[in-house]
Amino acid sequence: MARQHARRTCHFCGAQARQPEMTRQAIFVETGQSKASLSGATIIGAVVGSRSARRSVIRTLFNTGGRSYYRQREVWCCDDPTCVDEAVEASRQSRKIRGVPIWVGVAVAAVVGLLILLMFAAAPPAL
Ligand SMILES: [Zn+2]
Repeated sequence: MARQHARRTCHFCGAQARQPEMTRQAIFVETGQSKASLSGATIIGAVVGSRSARRSVIRTLFNTGGRSYYRQREVWCCDDPTCVDEAVEASRQSRKIRGVPIWVGVAVAAVVGLLILLMFAAAPPAL
């Protein structure tokens, strides 16, 4: 005899429940094929010294065809309000990330670079 309802795993808390207690939530996930994902946040990360962000920037510079791909993905979510909130956030957050313009990162990098130059100009290394 077949089971009435398949057990589903909540994407957010990992709890398992029967399908009727779970809802399908559409979230955005970055598809992992293209590693050369570059966002304004990544450039800022590279400037402040994140090694992985720097690698990502370098990869992108040498792979002009690289870009981020986001795909809508349906996941199961239990009826826990925390998980429902997370699902809403995950769908909203990804849209936000997708929309971060690269020039924001470039502008921040330029400002930080200028500040470093000013620091050196104001306090030259003692001889
Ligand atoms: Zn959950």
